[in-house]
Amino acid sequence: MEYITAKSAGFCFGVKRAMDKVEEQIELSAGKKIYTYGPIIHNEEVVKNLEARGVVAIRDDSELDAIVTDNNQKNVMIIRSHGISKMTQDMLLDKGFEIVDATCPFVKRIHNTVSEESQNGKSIIIIGNKKHPEVEGIMGWCVSEPVVIESLDEVGSIRFDSSKKYCVVAQTTFNHNKFKDIVEKIDSLGYDVSVVTTICNATYDRQTESKEIAAKVDTMIVIGDTHSSNSKKLYEICREECGDTHFIQTLDDLDLDATKSVRLVGITAGASTPDYIIEEVQNYVRVDF
Ligand code: SF4
Repeated sequence: MEYITAKSAGFCFGVKRAMDKVEEQIELSAGKKIYTYGPIIHNEEVVKNLEARGVVAIRDDSELDAIVTDNNQKNVMIIRSHGISKMTQDMLLDKGFEIVDATCPFVKRIHNTVSEESQNGKSIIIIGNKKHPEVEGIMGWCVSEPVVIESLDEVGSIRFDSSKKYCVVAQTTFNHNKFKDIVEKIDSLGYDVSVVTTICNATYDRQTESKEIAAKVDTMIVIGDTHSSNSKKLYEICREECGDTHFIQTLDDLDLDATKSVRLVGITAGASTPDYIIEEVQNYVRVDF
């Protein structure tokens, strides 16, 4: 069977970097306990494997109290690529954790921007999903209360003040076109607004490449965790182009119709899919199907 795998399939730069830091800590830890503040990636299989190797994902702050730290042997807390607020960072330091910061540098750049701009007196407008951990983290680096909006309609709800200056940033995974429309609307109101483009291309590139592949194959396979929103979105995009699109978490979920005549298979994967799962699927398609 012939197949094409998207070059952009799987871990983006920030997630790969975070996973590398976890591996580094496992090697270096020398008896220290290792925690991640939230599951390091949206992939239960990977999180379970890490747990078996002694890396515990903290899912709720209430779990922190049960962790005993002392200054001679600090526990390690790895911050995932989404980043955290300054308050959470301070709380973890107060509790005695040694912080290993795997915040994606693209997200850290937003933290630095909102921190500086809000200290300079600007009001911060964040375009993104208020409930997403990345946006919660960004909000927590503003020294004054930021405004978070997600849609064009919400621009009307911002109480602009002509005596103030504004700085607009975006969640890294926000849709380019929606961001452009919202910024144009804000600009048209005539206030003093500076815009920092903070959208990361990794998601856009993966979606564009997967769409192109799905349009030319007979069967498309999207690998990703069912809880990962970027994987679900990738599946929807591919299904629009290819009616025979399968969404799987691992090779075990793959149920291809062997009676169908399939000439070419496309493979892509969400940002939290490790390479070994992509390779297993490739091998199956090449050898067994
Ligand atoms: Fe970093 Fe972009 Fe990946 Fe987010 S999607 S972790 S910003 S590389």
